[in-house]
Amino acid sequence: MAEPLFRRLALIGVGLIGSSLARIARERGDLAGEVVACARTAKTRARVMELGIADRVEEDPARAVAGADCVMLAAPVGAFADLAAAIAPHLAPGAILTDVGSTKQSVIRDVGPLVPAGVHFVPAHPLAGTEYSGPDSGFVTLFQGRYTLVVPPPGTDEDAIGRIEELWRRCGSTVERMEPAHHDRVLAIVSHLPHLLAFTICGTADDLADESRSEVLRFAASGFRDFTRIAASDPVMWRDVFLNNREALLEMLARFLEDAQAMARAVRWGDAGYIEDKVERGRKIRRSLIELKQA
Ligand code: NAP
Repeated sequence: MAEPLFRRLALIGVGLIGSSLARIARERGDLAGEVVACARTAKTRARVMELGIADRVEEDPARAVAGADCVMLAAPVGAFADLAAAIAPHLAPGAILTDVGSTKQSVIRDVGPLVPAGVHFVPAHPLAGTEYSGPDSGFVTLFQGRYTLVVPPPGTDEDAIGRIEELWRRCGSTVERMEPAHHDRVLAIVSHLPHLLAFTICGTADDLADESRSEVLRFAASGFRDFTRIAASDPVMWRDVFLNNREALLEMLARFLEDAQAMARAVRWGDAGYIEDKVERGRKIRRSLIELKQA
């Protein structure tokens, strides 16, 4: 077995993403010699110890990062500024600080200025997830065959970037580098807007009278069901994503609304060709996803 990449990995947040990493570290043995987990609530900390996926749990993030050569922020992105302020004075010289947050410009804005000299900051984002959250929801194959985008600010130490890229490769991910603003625009269209639409459509359905609401649930299999799966995601995580990728999300939403208006017009005027064309385009996109093994 290869040498562990890190002596001690501190995971700040052990929900779906953090606990999946902890499980992989347990199973493979070549990610970290020791895993320290940090969570806010006693319930999560107790559960992590019961699951046996960390060597130690800490309530205080400052204690969790002491002596760690890799620290990963895996809490909701809205908590990153406070977490970074709490851990910054306690980060070991030469340590790598990384994260898994779904927005990247905000993380660089909130965390970057607090990183002490001699600590390497390598933001990243694994494009893998489910609608479940908490320490029980993680699993070892979560990142397999999925992309992880590594988004280092200019001038970041190449060796530190290489080690984070290797960590994600060992988790089964395909690694790509991306520029932060580009990351946020791409994610706005492929992930954040679809979630916004799912939350909205479920809200719209729920606003209907009691009688039709029961109809919605009884006949949900016709497409609505797929929206409800996405809409089951964690409210705090998604609140933070929307508020921390505001501009790109609003831009994509505006474009979407224009296109939706065009579709509404086609429906109103019976423009069958337009409608068929859009549906055909959707099918093509689905087929290419299947070919790329990202379905
Ligand atoms: P999660 O399952 O809800 O877990 C969040 C973890 O963070 C929990 O351990 C929680 O502790 C801790 N936490 C919450 N608020 C905190 C705070 N204010 N200070 C310190 N710790 C706090 O979340 P997740 O789905 O793993 O997401 C974690 C990060 O990964 C987020 O930044 C998200 O944007 C990103 N991400 C998520 C997905 C996805 O699909 N879920 C995919 C890629 C990236 P307690 O349980 O004790 O509250």
